[in-house]
This record gives sequence, C-alpha cells and structure tokens, in this order.
Amino acid sequence: MTADFDSVLMSKHRLRSGMVAATSAIWTVLASSATALEVRVAPDRPRLGDTLSVMVRTDDPDLPHPTVSVNGRTYETFLVGTNRYRAFLPTTPLEAPGTRTLQVSGDGAVETVSVVVSDRSFPIQEIWLSPETNAIEGTDYEFDLVDAFKQLVSPERLWTGPFRPPSDGPVTTVYGVRRYYNGEWAENYYHRGIDYAAPAGAPVLAAARGRVALVGRESQGFELHGNTVGLDHGQGVTTIYLHLSRIDVREGQLVEAGQPIGAVGSTGISTGPHLHWGLYVRGESVDPLPWQSLGLK
Ligand SMILES: [Zn+2]
Repeated sequence: MTADFDSVLMSKHRLRSGMVAATSAIWTVLASSATALEVRVAPDRPRLGDTLSVMVRTDDPDLPHPTVSVNGRTYETFLVGTNRYRAFLPTTPLEAPGTRTLQVSGDGAVETVSVVVSDRSFPIQEIWLSPETNAIEGTDYEFDLVDAFKQLVSPERLWTGPFRPPSDGPVTTVYGVRRYYNGEWAENYYHRGIDYAAPAGAPVLAAARGRVALVGRESQGFELHGNTVGLDHGQGVTTIYLHLSRIDVREGQLVEAGQPIGAVGSTGISTGPHLHWGLYVRGESVDPLPWQSLGLK
C-alpha cells in the first residue's frame, strides 16, 4: 500500500502564470493545454505531525522539476516516475491547525492547492530535573553538527518500503508529547521522536536504507545527545539515534534497513538506558508512525 496516489484530487484552481482565467472559455483552453499540472496531496485528512506527500504530474518531461511553496518556504520536488514528481512537506505539533495554501509551480503553470491540517491532542508530561541536570545546555559543537545533518537534502532516494522500528523494545514515550519542565510550560518543546526502552547493549537497527551522515560522540562534546548516529535516506528524509552506548558504523557508510548500527545506552542527558529515535523531513521532526505503517515511498 502506498500513500501517494490514493488520495482525492485536491487541485482547486488552474491558472497559467501571468494570466487570469476569467471565463469558462479560457478555462477550457487552459485545462486542455499541454502545460497543465496535476497535483495530489496525501494523506486525505492530515493531522499535525503528519508528513504531506505532494505528487505533481506534468506533461513535459524536459522542463525543470516543479517546486512547492508554502508558508514562505519553497521545496524542490524529486522525479519519481515519468513526468511525475514528489515533495514531502513536514507539519509539526508547534504549528497552528488549519488551511495551508500550497503553490505548485512548473511547466509554465501555477497550481494552488488548499490542504486542511487538523488539530491533534498530544500527551502532556511534567518533568522535574535536578538543578545540575537542568543546567546542562549542550555544546555548540553538537548543535551545529546536528542542525547541519537535519538540513541534508540528497537527491537520491535510498529507502524503499515502510521504515522498521529501530529497536525491539517497548515504546515508552510517543512522538509529540508536550512538557512542563520544573513547573514551567516549554513553549517550543515537543518530543521529537519515539523512545524505546531496551537494556544497555541491545542492538539499534537502521530504520531504513541510508547513508551514515552523522557520528557524534559524548567524549567529543555530544553532552546532551550522547553518542549519536544520523542516517540520510535522501530527498530530505533523515533519522537520528541518540544516547547510544556503542557506535558500530562510520561516517559515509551505506547501511541497509535492519542493519545494526550501534547499541542502546544512556549517554548524554538520559535517565536510563533507552533509544531516542527521531525522523526528520526537511529539518522538522515529524510523526514516524505513518512512515512505519504506510511506507511513504
Ligand atoms: Zn526521547
């Protein structure tokens, strides 16, 4: 099952750039012209945290890839078939629910598509940290490397099919949890991934095929994240694995889905052995569950 072409056609308006479709006569001409764009967005009823899959079909294979603009940000699309392109767009728990207006440009045309992203209630936790733990802020070194890693957009798609759980352990904290820290609401915080409980030393597996694009060690300044591995799956999709006791891969290495890449630990800021696993799309942490169940491809 795929999430790509199962959705309803969401195209609402067809406008040639620089022209106005003022009458139905013009409309007909435009709709039957050789430069129409067809846009489909999945899933049908997205909620905050979901990844939007935007599929674009053009009539001319020789033009540059279409782009998708939303909220002042422009995303390039990637070729997925003959005259077919796709961009994944993130949504997060920090955004307001409601209508997004997507502008799809390509093939000399601009297509405007409205997508309603509905609200979703995320669990809320109260966390109390000791003053010593609360004072640890992490290092510029680790944040610079992690931020650069999350922004990777490599053109080649390395993964196929659904992502697999990176650990056999039970899930202890789900995606999107909001928190009070020491009684104070953490405005910009949400749990950017899934926590799996597993004993120290248990294997950590690559969730999908990808290239090792980040290796960070506590001993070299990864105070907060602990020993860390980041995988680049291509086309703006990355996964990150934190608090490891051991790292079994090196940067640049290609790993297969399910391949051991390290071991569960409690390095960095961690209350006990567990794996924190995050999935990022274009730099934003999205809910990994649809990637595990549907296999956005
Ligand atoms: Zn976590």
